[in-house]
Amino acid sequence: MNGRSPAGITARLASGTVLGAEGYVFELERRGYIKAGPYVPEVVLDFPDAVRQLHREFLRAGSDVIVALTYYAHREKLRHVGREDDLEAMNRCAVRIAREVAQEGDALVAGNVCNTWAYDPDDPSAPGTVRDTYAEQLGWAVEEGIDFVISETNDYLGEALIALEVIQGLGLPAMVTLAATQPDQTRDGYPYAEACRILAAEGAQVVGLNCDRGPQTMLPLMAGIREKVDCAVAAQPVPYRTDAAAPTMQALRSETIQRAFPLALEPFGCTRFEMAQFALQARDLGVDYVGICCGAGPHHVRAMAEALGREVPASKYSPSLDLHPMFRADVSAKDAMFLSTWNA
Ligand SMILES: [Zn+2]
Repeated sequence: MNGRSPAGITARLASGTVLGAEGYVFELERRGYIKAGPYVPEVVLDFPDAVRQLHREFLRAGSDVIVALTYYAHREKLRHVGREDDLEAMNRCAVRIAREVAQEGDALVAGNVCNTWAYDPDDPSAPGTVRDTYAEQLGWAVEEGIDFVISETNDYLGEALIALEVIQGLGLPAMVTLAATQPDQTRDGYPYAEACRILAAEGAQVVGLNCDRGPQTMLPLMAGIREKVDCAVAAQPVPYRTDAAAPTMQALRSETIQRAFPLALEPFGCTRFEMAQFALQARDLGVDYVGICCGAGPHHVRAMAEALGREVPASKYSPSLDLHPMFRADVSAKDAMFLSTWNA
């Protein structure tokens, strides 16, 4: 089923920056369709229109890739919420919806697997469990039609390598991105750049980082990865203002917010301008796949697309503040009197 689009992910990466929008679980939780905590994408079966709509919003905002919402749609997670019987339907339906929307534009469809929480380097039975999980999900995804696979938020290189092996077994291009939740290495002790080098050496088409870190704390790690690998690299940060004191969104705190993650992150949110700046910084650093993860809104994605020089369907409604009654050059005398209060 590979090759639906005229050019697959590797050809697109070779011809320029690819823009990817994710963050479906966070956004659909905010909209009231996914339960925070388990974060299982039950919405795929319960409210497919909500998924379709968000895919469409990201597509209109310029995402080159529609990622099927199968994040955490694996056996173990579904068992936790009592929906194991819905496993196959949820995975198939997620890919079907993603394909349907991707075809409204010129987007690629990515199958998606993630950290399983089952991997344990000290448990000899863990690799088999993880392999079965990935093989099951991706088997259905391939039957429904995907162009490549994104394995993401892997904390362990060992787990990421299992995902890569399963994806390669299906004959599909693999994008494997790690969760950089630790200061400088994976949970199984590989510096992030070294882990990416190994993934690239094992044949991943795209390697990099996604989630957890905001632009400011992800970019320095990306520079190290870019230096170490020859293949395409991906950076999909969360749109939150992480910094040296709080390098991940999980670490964000303020005087009034003891733990911002995952439900009180709004005060730390990046503006569309900050994400546009990130898109340019990432591109200039040599990042091939520029993206955004949990916390993303279509306004971020459109600003990133436009910063990269594109006009996208949603650009029709991009800001024209020169037309705002108070900001326009010929602001009326009646309104101009009140400008001082706006500028106070
Ligand atoms: Zn994320």
